[in-house]
Amino acid sequence: MQRDYEGRHSLPEAEFNIADAHRRRMIRLLFVLASGILFVYASINFIEELYLLAVLQLICGVAGLLSLSRLARTRHLMVWTFGFLFALYVIVFLAVLTVEGSDTNYVWIYIIPVLSYAMLGLRPGLLISLPFMLITMTVLVIQQLDLYGDPSLRELSNLLNLVASAVLMMVFMHFYEKGRAETQRQLVYMAATDALTGLPNRGQFQTTLRSVIADSKRRRAEFTLVVLDLDRFKQVNDTRGHDAGDEILRQLGQCMSDGLRESDFVARLGGEEFAVILREASMPVAAALAESIREKIANYPFSYEGLPIQVHATLGVAVFPHDGEDATALYKAADERLYRGKHHGRNRVVSA
Ligand code: GH3
Ligand code: MG
Ligand code: MG
Repeated sequence: MQRDYEGRHSLPEAEFNIADAHRRRMIRLLFVLASGILFVYASINFIEELYLLAVLQLICGVAGLLSLSRLARTRHLMVWTFGFLFALYVIVFLAVLTVEGSDTNYVWIYIIPVLSYAMLGLRPGLLISLPFMLITMTVLVIQQLDLYGDPSLRELSNLLNLVASAVLMMVFMHFYEKGRAETQRQLVYMAATDALTGLPNRGQFQTTLRSVIADSKRRRAEFTLVVLDLDRFKQVNDTRGHDAGDEILRQLGQCMSDGLRESDFVARLGGEEFAVILREASMPVAAALAESIREKIANYPFSYEGLPIQVHATLGVAVFPHDGEDATALYKAADERLYRGKHHGRNRVVSA
């Protein structure tokens, strides 16, 4: 099974993209607002005969509006955002550089860190905002020093205002985004994880099963779904207590994830029912792998408060696409075999 940065199970990439729809809305809003503002400035700059700036603003504004429909669908949202912000920041830089323009053009420098981190996240946000902030602020400071000639304390203090607020903005946005991204990662992880065993939960299992089916259809590959239910588990609770039952489930989580291949996936579906997805295993291999899981559970040294507890499981096996071509049919086939196994005496594997 794949592990994440803290050695826990990792989630498919799609699960990390819960913010994608929000980001798409935000970037479209930005494109509309920025294009509108750019048209206003392009008009002013034409009147003031600052043609280079005006033409750039016009091109960027039109490009922004034309790309709105693409933004809703593109798989390269990051590239589009990066490209648009880059163009926007070049315009901000040129606006600061153009001394014939407005005296307060520099205020636009301060949107650079905000837009970069909000639209691109931590690393790309830093990658684009830091160089632009450094270059544009340097140009601004040199300009101001030129203007002052021999600066008074008050003029130096004006300069300090410009630089210190920019530094504060960068540092604050960086650490704010860092904390926000980490919190989001943890929330996504918790939403997909069973608290008792630390394994992926039922929701995550369903998402993964659907994505493995889609992938296997594309590659015309087989894979195996194993559904597993512990035998007479109520007796463990009744004789040793509910805490003992919980401890067994925790140890079972460990037992099941140990020794699985990178590509395999194990989840707790609920109660004492678990599922394993074995990639690229055809029926004879699948039955043998399921049998090895059954043996491993039967031989695993489960214990509670130092006393051993014998645990057995019954497993139902279904192979894609022979036993079902969608998630519901495949799960149903595995589940029916599991209950046939229960009916025929438990502690066994039932396959086709
Ligand atoms: P079998 O599956 O072999 O037919 O018998 P069983 O005793 O395992 O019966 P069943 O699967 O119907 O019952 C599941 C039992 O598992 C019910 C409940 O006591 C126990 N159980 C389910 N979830 C938990 C849990 O989170 N913690 C503990 N301690 N017990 C649980
Ligand atoms: Mg059971
Ligand atoms: Mg059960």
